[in-house]
Amino acid sequence: MTAGSVQDHRSREGGIIVYPVYSRRSGGLSVGINLFPDRKRCSFDCAYCEVFPFETDVSFNLETMKAALRSAILDAGERKIPVRDICFSGSGEPAMSSHFAEALEAAAVLRNKLAREAKLVMITNGTGLLEPPGGNAPALFDFLRTSARAPATALHIWLKLDAGTEAWYAAMDRSPVPYERLVSGIRNFAASGAPFILQTMVCKINGRLPPPEEAAAWAALVTELARTGGAEAGQSGGLQAVQIYGKVRPAPEDPLAEAVPAAVLEDRAALLRAALAGAGRAVPVEVYE
Ligand code: SF4
Repeated sequence: MTAGSVQDHRSREGGIIVYPVYSRRSGGLSVGINLFPDRKRCSFDCAYCEVFPFETDVSFNLETMKAALRSAILDAGERKIPVRDICFSGSGEPAMSSHFAEALEAAAVLRNKLAREAKLVMITNGTGLLEPPGGNAPALFDFLRTSARAPATALHIWLKLDAGTEAWYAAMDRSPVPYERLVSGIRNFAASGAPFILQTMVCKINGRLPPPEEAAAWAALVTELARTGGAEAGQSGGLQAVQIYGKVRPAPEDPLAEAVPAAVLEDRAALLRAALAGAGRAVPVEVYE
């Protein structure tokens, strides 16, 4: 997952379930929860993925997670460091874990008791939103929609959308899930009125920048999503923000994916801001270099 935090995440490859890191997107302490302490599990194979191959004999355990999360929150409190968020990310796609729902509910209870200001975040590649037969939908789709809207959970869903074209999706995310099927799941989620944030990685692949037609198609798709669901109905749901990221950490397949100059990220943001303004949508576009 692309969590947007710059501190070393490699501890999770040693079987760690809870790992505090500094997060550039939240500007403070993020407590990560890794549902896959034994090995990476993901429905994507992103060219820039920072999870290095690993294998441990540690299984995810809910009680271990709760104890470690409690300890991380209390430790931060003793050091007077605010916990900005508790983030389901880790070594794979959280929606692929059978423990996700119970872990989220347990994290919400602890957050509500010990760190009320901390957001609860899930970083997802969106394959949990697919119509059957893929993923765990529609049960998971409904669970995420409900979790995002329920005040006791208020789950912040950070949804990956790296491409506006099938060709760039194939180069970036290398998933067996067809592009149109993935986009259809995201469209349905937007239409459901659930609040969500889009997250896009912009990098070079094989030395090549995303081509102009890719950037234009991506901006058009994001703008379409911004006009859908809660946003269009004037409710508080729908697309809340777009986060554009650059590559900052090493990846096992380096140099397949490479960082781009900051100006490329800013140009991409400017393109989207213009498209959103043209459609009359006031959605924040943030850049993380
Ligand atoms: S979605 Fe991509 S970046 Fe995230 S864990 Fe899967 S392969 Fe890695």
